[in-house]
Amino acid sequence: KFISLEGPDGSGKTSVVRALKEMLEASGYDVLTTREPGGSPIAERIREVILDVDNTAMDARTEALLFAASRRQHLIETILPALEKGQIVITDRFVDSSIAYQGIARGIPVEDIWAINKFGIEDHMPDLTLLIDVPAEVGLERIYKARGQRQFDRLDQESIDFHQMVREAFLNFEKENERIILVNGNQSVEKVAQECITVLKDKELT
Ligand code: C5P
Ligand code: MG
Repeated sequence: KFISLEGPDGSGKTSVVRALKEMLEASGYDVLTTREPGGSPIAERIREVILDVDNTAMDARTEALLFAASRRQHLIETILPALEKGQIVITDRFVDSSIAYQGIARGIPVEDIWAINKFGIEDHMPDLTLLIDVPAEVGLERIYKARGQRQFDRLDQESIDFHQMVREAFLNFEKENERIILVNGNQSVEKVAQECITVLKDKELT
């Protein structure tokens, strides 16, 4: 089974992915967790290019292509082989992030973002997407608090308005799409992970 976690910056996706892995493994499941951009050796190198603070000249469409390229390589090198082995794959972000960030928030037409991503992922969509939602201010405050433990990247410089657009975009996708299930991210990591597990059981994915 292929599961993606989506949500605005600071929604806690990374911590929730870690908690989910522990909880599912404790129940005997074979779980592979991964992340985007990155998630495979080549894709991680593309991530470095995308997030390098010195790459101030990066064009929005170049950025969108690099995200799609990273995703393609991640799918081929990491996700598909794990699914073939029968593992549960949980990825921290997938294609919905590109629709929200590069499409809605950066203003590239969404159909163009879908087109380059369809080229990259063909028909390999997640079975389920958990949208970990937090208000933009809550997410940004968490990120500022983590300053010091975590390096700032090129895309961490966006305004609150940008983050609000990303959040709204995700919430709209959830309304339009049965694949996507909303989870309240404004609670402890344990509670968020527990809610995710409940959704997985409801959907008979575990
Ligand atoms: O999820 P993570 O924090 O690893 O993402 C790294 C950076 O890339 C973040 O600043 C996030 O906002 C940004 N991002 C983006 N477009 C995507 C995925 C992530 O701008 N499609
Ligand atoms: Mg982040």
